[in-house]
Amino acid sequence: MKNRLIEYWERSGLIKDNNVLKAFKEVPREEFVLDELIREAYSDYPLPIGAGQTISQPSTIMIMLHALELKKSDKVLEIGTGSGYNAALIAKIAKFVYTTEVVPELIKLAENNIKKQKIKNIKIIHTDGSKGYSKEAPYDKIIATAACPYIPKPWIEQLKDNGIIVAPVGSLYGQKMIKAKKIKEKLEQEELGEFMFVPLKGKYGFP
Ligand code: SAH
Repeated sequence: MKNRLIEYWERSGLIKDNNVLKAFKEVPREEFVLDELIREAYSDYPLPIGAGQTISQPSTIMIMLHALELKKSDKVLEIGTGSGYNAALIAKIAKFVYTTEVVPELIKLAENNIKKQKIKNIKIIHTDGSKGYSKEAPYDKIIATAACPYIPKPWIEQLKDNGIIVAPVGSLYGQKMIKAKKIKEKLEQEELGEFMFVPLKGKYGFP
């Protein structure tokens, strides 16, 4: 099942970033999904993780991580820890991941999942990530795994020059994946297709 997905990405040319493929191979997605959904861990659709939230579809995650252009030296901010799976993938490539979550139950879940994988370069922060996380700013990359009405200003402020933000932006019922590069305090944006995420909450999220 896992190999079939990898073959599909290689054949379709969807993912050309070998670091991202390597991370996908290394991290066992089956250990981040609910026990009763283990058989579906490598199906290419999102799965529920509790608290009304979901772990994103594998292809969607790959597209986002590819767009982030991750480097070994990167300090990354994630908004929406969920199961911790996406953070685990990033941690395999980048230097350090700060990931924010608002649901206590999911923080516990992600902490357990990441501990089991013995991944040390992730810190989970219980905070409203719509405001970013100024304490560790600036970041090389910022990734949001919840639907945003727009790109919050603090994220732009907390991003380094030449840094990249990848986030689904739009309405509650569908979003465009935005890849935005910060050049001289302004964002240069590119669209990567239509997606559907659970909503971002908090100050700069959906009311
Ligand atoms: N990246 C996750 C999937 C995240 S689903 C994974 O790999 O499993 C989106 C998550 O964003 C949910 O867990 C939701 O609780 C969280 N979220 C929503 N609004 C948020 C906010 N303002 N700050 C931090 N996390 C938020």
